[in-house]
Amino acid sequence: MNIHSIKGMRDILPAETRLWQFIESAARDIFEKFGYREIRTPILEETSLFQKGIGEGTDIVNKEMYTFVDRGKRSLTMRPEGTAPIARSYLENNLAQDGFVSLYYMGPMFRSERPQKGRSRQFHQIGIEAIGSSSPYVDTSAIQMMVYLFRRLNLKDFKIKLCSLGCADDKQKLAAELRKYLSPEKNRLCDDCKVRLEKNILRTLDCKVDSCRALLRNSPKARDFLCNSCRSHYSTVKKMLGEMGTGYVEDVNMVRGLDYYTNTVFEVTHPGLGAQDAIAAGGRYDDLIKDFGGKAAGAFGFAIGVERLLMAISAEGNLVVPDNKTDVYIATTSENVRLEALKASTMLIEEGICCEMNFEERSLKSQMRQAGKKNVLFTVIFGDEELKRNEVVLRDMRTGEQANIKLDELAQKIKGGI
Ligand SMILES: [Zn+2]
Ligand SMILES: [Zn+2]
Repeated sequence: MNIHSIKGMRDILPAETRLWQFIESAARDIFEKFGYREIRTPILEETSLFQKGIGEGTDIVNKEMYTFVDRGKRSLTMRPEGTAPIARSYLENNLAQDGFVSLYYMGPMFRSERPQKGRSRQFHQIGIEAIGSSSPYVDTSAIQMMVYLFRRLNLKDFKIKLCSLGCADDKQKLAAELRKYLSPEKNRLCDDCKVRLEKNILRTLDCKVDSCRALLRNSPKARDFLCNSCRSHYSTVKKMLGEMGTGYVEDVNMVRGLDYYTNTVFEVTHPGLGAQDAIAAGGRYDDLIKDFGGKAAGAFGFAIGVERLLMAISAEGNLVVPDNKTDVYIATTSENVRLEALKASTMLIEEGICCEMNFEERSLKSQMRQAGKKNVLFTVIFGDEELKRNEVVLRDMRTGEQANIKLDELAQKIKGGI
């Protein structure tokens, strides 16, 4: 066959899904205990949602979105992140009427970046959004919740980097100073940054071109423009994290490549990943709901990159998730007994026993070999003669012992032996 998966988008195979499920169910369990509830938004949204939410001039919007015109001539985009769709849903469905709302999500996101280690075009995120509060307790509690999840996954070597970008006013002051600083150097900026200088100057801060980074090393920093209220919010978060025993380092150079962030932002890195070392990131976005036309509502969110998290987990090697095991294999010696065998296998499954059976015309010997390969605890053999007496042969694969038993005692016998 000459059909392949799309570059940068890969299959997650049965050998891996066990671990994915483990991570997802740990996240569900912990988030639900913190009062978060799941929200599922569509993969496709109107393109303008992301242009407005993430911001024109960001790399995501300018270079990375899967955007296309549908049959109705609408411009649609496959979601590159989860926050803008959830903010839309919050407003559209009036979730604000419940006051504070805390939501979590998990699923695929799409960005057409150059595929490399730790970056794929369909990638997966597990994230949360807490909307309707500006309290620093929300920031702290959410970061704490993420740390609990990492601990549940036996992850140890991660590092939390913290910074504050300030409110919209503070960001404007920073932008003005940055303009003063960069304008005389305009010719030394890359082409993208020349445009950013005019359109969205704060995005020069996340330029990856070396010459721009060198130029920006000594540029004005967000921390120098925090107003009293932002300063106090940030120090409260730091104090509480410290008192709760959650370690962090401050990183004054941290920027997030999305316009909506204000105030507290953070990133979690792990040494097992190489150059792209972030496994999670997030922060406050106190103006997004208002910018989307809603009543001002403080908000905080983060997203964990599942593929990145898996790399960190495998680098540490401390999480072993056992695979589900088949307990019973049902062998059949002829077509005459197969329906009864199917009924019995269904009955065993209803009793909570993991059971597979042979559907094919094949020798008992090859079926026993199959059972051996599956490493089952028991094989049940359905034969014509035995079935006439309502009996089957039950073989304990660990001892090799076998005995005829009544069909209606099968579940009991197996349960007693597992
Ligand atoms: Zn401020
Ligand atoms: Zn640049």
